[in-house]
This record gives sequence, C-alpha cells and structure tokens, in this order.
Amino acid sequence: TTQPTIPFNDGRAIPQVGLGVWQTPDDGAVTAVSAALKAGYRHVDTAAAYKNERGVGEGLRQAGVPRGEVFVTTKLWNEEQGFDRTLRAFDASLEQLGLDHVDLYLIHWPSPARDLYVDTWRAFVRLKEEGRARSIGVSNFTAEHLDRLADETGVTPAINQIELHPRFQQRALRDAHAKRGIVTQSWSPLGQGQLLEDPVVAGIAQKHGRTPAQVVIRWHLDNGLVVIPKSVTPSRITENFDVFGFALDADDLAAIARLDTGDGRIGPDPMTATF
Ligand code: NAD
Repeated sequence: TTQPTIPFNDGRAIPQVGLGVWQTPDDGAVTAVSAALKAGYRHVDTAAAYKNERGVGEGLRQAGVPRGEVFVTTKLWNEEQGFDRTLRAFDASLEQLGLDHVDLYLIHWPSPARDLYVDTWRAFVRLKEEGRARSIGVSNFTAEHLDRLADETGVTPAINQIELHPRFQQRALRDAHAKRGIVTQSWSPLGQGQLLEDPVVAGIAQKHGRTPAQVVIRWHLDNGLVVIPKSVTPSRITENFDVFGFALDADDLAAIARLDTGDGRIGPDPMTATF
C-alpha cells in the first residue's frame, strides 16, 4: 500500500488514516477491524474505556495481516491514572488485546481535577523504554498540560488526539502542537456524522463525484492531520479509506475553512469534564 504516514518526534511514524471503534461492542469490533484491514487500513484506534480491546485483538488475528504491518493504539482510562495503576492497566490492555506491545499508548484525558497526569506520564515513559508501548502520547490535553509534561519529565508526547472537524478546527492548539513537534490527531473527524449533512460539504462532494465523508476525510489529510473515522458498516469502512485518488482544490479548502464556528465542540471540554 502507498498510504501516507506522519512522522513522530521519536523516530517512528503513524498511518494517516485509521479506524475508530468507539461505541462498538466486542463482536462489532471483530467484524469492523477485520473489514478495515481487508480494505487496506493499517491503523486501529481503541481504548480501555471502549471495552472492546478483546474484539479488536480478535479482528486483527482474523484478518491475518502480519502484526508488524498494523498500527494499534489504545488508551489509559482516567480512573487508572497514577504511576502504579497505569502499569497495571497497561498490562490488562495488552492481555485483552492479546498483544505483546502496542504501537501507541495515550492518556485518554488529562483529568486536571485528579492532578495525576504527570505521574501517569512517568509510567508511560517507562513503558516506552521497555518497548511495550512503541510510542506514547496523550489525548484531550491543552497546551498548558503539554508544557507541564515536558517541563517535569523532559519527554514531549508524540501526539495529542483531540476533537477536530470542520466546525471545530482547533487552529490555536494545532499551532501549539506544531511549535512543540507534536502530531495532531482528529477525533470525531466527521463530527459524529453531523458534518455529512452540511450543504457546503455536500456541494464539494458532488463537484468531485465523491461522498461527503470522503471530502471531510480528505480535508483532514490535506491539513496534515491523522484521522480516525468510525464506522461498523463494511461499505462505509471501504468508502472512508478510498480517499487517496482525488484532491480538494484551493476553493474547496477555503470553503471548508469557513465552516469553523470557533466553539463547535460536540464532545466534552477537557478542562471541565467530570469523569
Ligand atoms: P466520527 O466523526 O468518526 O463519526 C462516526 C459516525 O459517522 C458513524 O457512527 C456514522 O454514523 C457516520 N459515518 C461514518 N462514516 C460514514 C459514511 N461513509 N457515510 C455516512 N455516515 C458515516 O465519530 P466518532 O466515532 O466520535 O470519532 C471517531 C473515533 O475517534 C472514535 O471511534 C474513537 O476511536 C475516537 N474518539 C476519541 C475520543 C477521545 O477522547 N480521545 C473521543 C471520541 C472519539
């Protein structure tokens, strides 16, 4: 395959398109992951909190793609933050997945009220040194949280996975990532499907003979973002990966840039999330 990858600050790289499996129980994850790998995906994004790591692992084995060719991400849940708990939670995730390493381990949320993310990060650094988490990163961190990690541990995350879609483009945080050498990954990249009804997106899709989902995914790629659209429907899984054979033009990109509403957030605000 010739799919693009984005380099990390640790010498590794991540395939730019992956499959998201939030809100997918184990049996759905088996079929979605195996359909995605057959369609050419080489990157899957799960989390302990999704309660489907077992299904993801089974899907990987069913598809029969060599382990070294697939990039697997999982995430540490908030209640498991802290140095010792993190190490135990990581072992449990590997056990569920049936793997001896993951390609990327993320702190799912900063959970500032707990104030444990620095100790948690020290455990992540150990897991990376052990080679069991090949790369380490975070999710839903602000620029201030990122700086605190680097200041207190000397290790900058490879990536920050944040809510990002055309209605919530996160330009300030993307700039902060670029200055620090951190890759930006878009969660809810299709706005949980809401973007697909947008008339501007629909118009661009019609112009290119593509679907709205393909246009939005292509926009993420053209902005240098790593993107993890979710679907459990094999035809949509295939459609969402068929994005390498067309290009958006400057007018399209400008029209989508104007869809940003500043605070078009759909999910929780990491500063005030109470879980
Ligand atoms: P998404 O933006 O990927 O939208 C998914 C929804 O869009 C699907 O449920 C379906 O309804 C629709 N859809 C997908 N493909 C389609 C197509 N081709 N045609 C028509 N409709 C289509 O939403 P998401 O699941 O919230 O986000 C994607 C992934 O991001 C998740 O699965 C998860 O892996 C990750 N995520 C991470 C966090 C975090 O805190 N780190 C939070 C939310 C999501």
